[in-house]
Amino acid sequence: MDRPSLAELDRAHVWHPFTQADEWEEDDPLVVERAEGRWLFDTRGRKYLDACSSLWVSVHGHRHPTVDAAVRAQLDRVAHTTLLGLASGPSVQLAAALCARTGFDRVFYSDSGSTAVEIALKMAFQWHAQRGDTGRTRFAALAEAYHGDTIGAVSVGGIGLFHAVYGPLLMDVLRLPCPNGPDDGEAAVAVQRIEAAGDTLAAVIVEPLVQGAAGMRMHGREFLEPVLTAARRVGALTILDEVAVGVGRLGTFLATEQLDHEPDFVCLGKGLTNGYLPLAATLTRGRIYDGFRGDHGRTFFHGHTFTGNALACAAATACLEVFEAESTLDNVQARSTQMGSILREVSALESVASVRQKGMMAAIDLTDTQPRAGHRFCLAMRSRGVLMRPLGNTLVLMPPLSITDEELLFLGTQLVGALSG
Ligand SMILES: *Cc1c(COP(=O)(O)O)cnc(C)c1O
Repeated sequence: MDRPSLAELDRAHVWHPFTQADEWEEDDPLVVERAEGRWLFDTRGRKYLDACSSLWVSVHGHRHPTVDAAVRAQLDRVAHTTLLGLASGPSVQLAAALCARTGFDRVFYSDSGSTAVEIALKMAFQWHAQRGDTGRTRFAALAEAYHGDTIGAVSVGGIGLFHAVYGPLLMDVLRLPCPNGPDDGEAAVAVQRIEAAGDTLAAVIVEPLVQGAAGMRMHGREFLEPVLTAARRVGALTILDEVAVGVGRLGTFLATEQLDHEPDFVCLGKGLTNGYLPLAATLTRGRIYDGFRGDHGRTFFHGHTFTGNALACAAATACLEVFEAESTLDNVQARSTQMGSILREVSALESVASVRQKGMMAAIDLTDTQPRAGHRFCLAMRSRGVLMRPLGNTLVLMPPLSITDEELLFLGTQLVGALSG
């Protein structure tokens, strides 16, 4: 008897994230075997441009020699030791490099964007409580927010399709309106709500400039700065969830660098290790850290088994070095401009309702509003050698930051071809 194929075993045993089983089983799964730079190869030997950066994580491309070498070298020393009661070289080096790069003082490690967010929420609440401010028990978050899938992160999330089902389990969160485009009075309403909530607020959490999972909804400084300023005015802390927009995606290492606001926390994940290993970081200030000093009871009682994993930290430090060695942010500037001209061409097509872009994040809304139109379009792109993942009927362009002009040209040509078809 033949051994079952990987595709058959997948159908039999793997539960895929954010995936409806009945829909998954309609299509033949593409099984990835290996990768090189911006390209993935499947088990049939076909080649695809990784236009979603393997769900927003691949910054410098797959199998990058510097990152590969760093992980291999660390593997020859030790793969993992705990940060509970011990220090480790890779976690120290990465924390120092991240602080030097961002101006933050402290790094708390975890292993996913969701946990980076949970950590910031818990730290904010506890920091206030330990100063005697025990009435600050609420968080404010933006409409359509996405901050991850653990219950605290789902509470601050605001996407009905993902989050409504868990309603009975969630914290009561103050919801703030958020524009998709220029501010149209949303900032004024948000400021008013923050002021009314006043000293009940522990923190305001936002995905700055681009709300990714919401469908690449984009707002500007003119919306965000008044909101963050109001938070500070009422004594709430500010948490900027840069899990999607951080690590160079918007043309600066942190998106926060584009704002006139110094947040109390920034959450990083996704691109931090170039997608090699699960690692996230909650960056914060010395004054927050100092609020946890003193009695044993003032400790931050939180930590995950793999907090500060040595292989992951080595990958992330190498990833930061590549930013310098390859002037990655310069490539982001050049490729963003190129992406802009592709989008202008695309926006003239009948099948396209609207387009928007910030840095190397772009979205194309289809005029086709039938269920799964975005999914069907991405299957058509797959047969043209491009892998994308839609958000509903919005197409998402999130290629690796190291993409070359030829590769982006290929992506543009295939997009225009498929959208004109
Ligand atoms: C992906 C994402 C998260 C969650 O990260 P995970 O690693 O999937 O837990 C949180 N916030 C934002 C903005 C994200 O895009």
